[in-house]
Amino acid sequence: MTVFDLLLFVIIVFVLGGIYLITNYFRRALVRTKNSLELSGAKQAIVQVKNPTNHNPVNPNSFVSASKSEILAVFPFFASVPEGLQDNMEIHVNDFLYEKVFIGKGDLEVTREMKISIAAQASLLMAGRKELCFPKLRTVEVYPAQIGPYEGLSIMKFAGETPVSGVVKVSWATAKKEGEVATPNRNVVLHEMAHQLDFEDGEADGIPELYLHILEVIKDDPKETWMKILNQSKSLFSQSTQEGGMHPHSLEDDAEFFAEASVAFFYGAHTLKSGLPKLYDLLARFYNQDPAAYLPGQVRG
Ligand SMILES: [Zn+2]
Repeated sequence: MTVFDLLLFVIIVFVLGGIYLITNYFRRALVRTKNSLELSGAKQAIVQVKNPTNHNPVNPNSFVSASKSEILAVFPFFASVPEGLQDNMEIHVNDFLYEKVFIGKGDLEVTREMKISIAAQASLLMAGRKELCFPKLRTVEVYPAQIGPYEGLSIMKFAGETPVSGVVKVSWATAKKEGEVATPNRNVVLHEMAHQLDFEDGEADGIPELYLHILEVIKDDPKETWMKILNQSKSLFSQSTQEGGMHPHSLEDDAEFFAEASVAFFYGAHTLKSGLPKLYDLLARFYNQDPAAYLPGQVRG
């Protein structure tokens, strides 16, 4: 090896080392930026609760903050939720109000009451979860009464719809009524927001994104285990709709079954727990809360 070869070798080592260090720096800087963006987003929303005049107007709707008493006024279910979960719900409600765009359809003017009621019902699903508040949801379309029928497509009318991840459509007439009076196994906002959770991994298949607190419990092939429990419960429910007491619409497909099971988990907790205990336990893990323990006993039926 000549001196020239040696020099060339040293130069190549330096150049390669330099490239590695530079790419590594940018990669780490990117992760840092992403993390701090997520953190600052969450922090900002919480700060806004205390100081709404100071917020960055990323949301074209004027930002509304909601106190616990305002949440309670439109969503009395909130009173039954334990204090720690109430605190989390309040944060999620305000994140929801800050981040999501509400659009009134059919000349409907979206009011403060509508925003808080929808955000409060949606946040019940998030109360025990450590994840961000429906990160993929951008737009809530609020219809005065029913949605549809769509021209040339269907004669059906809906109280709610989740056409894609990122958008939910709800009927205010239904959402208001179901927020104010808890009717067993009926809640359009919970139903559509459960679809949003299901959609987060890109597929509406009844298997939502399974985060850490459930992966700690189901270690072996969590998706397969999840689906097994869902299918067993679906088959029990189809044999006897008395079991679990869910809305029969749940039998349409796996996505509907998960959405309706989520409604029953909150709005029929005792019936679901006694009729389909494995499904109840699975959802208790997923939502990280136990409504059957904190809600007053419901009559089975
Ligand atoms: Zn549905």
